[in-house]
Amino acid sequence: MDDYITVELQRIKRISPSTQMFRFVTDGVRVPFLAGQFYRFTFTDGSGQFERSYSLCNQLDDEDQCYLDLIVSEVDRGRATQVLFSASIGLQVWVRGPFGRLVLPQPLPARSVLVATSVGLAPFIPMLSMFAASPPSNDKAMVLFLGVRDREEFLYGQWLLSLHNRLSQFQLFVCYSKETAIDLQPYERHGYVTDVVAQEHPNPQSDFFMLCGNPQMVDDVFLFLKSQGFSGRNVRREKYVFARQENNNARPKTLSEGDRALLLEKIKRYQK
Ligand SMILES: Cc1cc2nc3c(=O)[nH]c(=O)nc-3n(C[C@H](O)[C@H](O)[C@H](O)COP(=O)(O)OP(=O)(O)OC[C@H]3O[C@@H](n4cnc5c(N)ncnc54)[C@H](O)[C@@H]3O)c2cc1C
Repeated sequence: MDDYITVELQRIKRISPSTQMFRFVTDGVRVPFLAGQFYRFTFTDGSGQFERSYSLCNQLDDEDQCYLDLIVSEVDRGRATQVLFSASIGLQVWVRGPFGRLVLPQPLPARSVLVATSVGLAPFIPMLSMFAASPPSNDKAMVLFLGVRDREEFLYGQWLLSLHNRLSQFQLFVCYSKETAIDLQPYERHGYVTDVVAQEHPNPQSDFFMLCGNPQMVDDVFLFLKSQGFSGRNVRREKYVFARQENNNARPKTLSEGDRALLLEKIKRYQK
């Protein structure tokens, strides 16, 4: 059990019709991670224990963060969805991490281009908060393409717009797959994020791409970028694949009977 820590649900907030934010706190232990990484959460329901991965979307405004912020979108009949979206404050779960290579290279490339669908935005929140705290001097040094269904699903809308309006170094494109409004703002586009990225003429000499979220979007954008001269060296990808598609290493270690009984007891107490 050395690599697991117990965390407790402290805050729940709905941030769009399909998405909620969850804050889990440790008992004072600092949560190590680099902007862009994820943790694996062990939940328990009536059928037993299971594990799911979630990117941390902590805004990195202080160093000693003893919490994990997640944004999670509801999946119909999803196991983790059912646990999280019916959870009460105080729910305890086990987590291990950090994992993942979706981190920005240092020093920053001339232009970092972040492409996300929906909650695929999560790993980019810490990156954007660090970027906003000390932006480089060049204009449009960081660009975000965010694909969502419609305006109601524009996650972190106010915050992203304030960065877009305040910082010439940051450029925002919000791409709607289902929005019908015609009074689009300059940062808004109709259509899939893949098509909007293509319209902006990515340049393999200057751009470093980070892709996150829907696996189909990640594959489509990567295929397009390769056709423009990009390779694995200037594109990093994180696909939000379903649990059964994650590799066997992602499986939780077997818990001892004692640990299992303890976890089940705690979870029963805190679940509705
Ligand atoms: C590295 C990584 C990081 C991730 N980070 C996040 C994150 O920050 N936020 C987040 O919300 N999710 C994230 N995910 C996805 C998350 O791990 C779960 O897969 C997701 O929450 C669904 O779990 P579930 O148990 O509710 O659904 P499951 O019980 O796994 O699935 C229920 C059913 O829905 C289908 N299904 C599952 N997911 C989807 C989907 N997205 N769209 C359509 N059908 C689906 C399954 O095939 C299955 O039939 C991440 C995944 C990975 C691999």
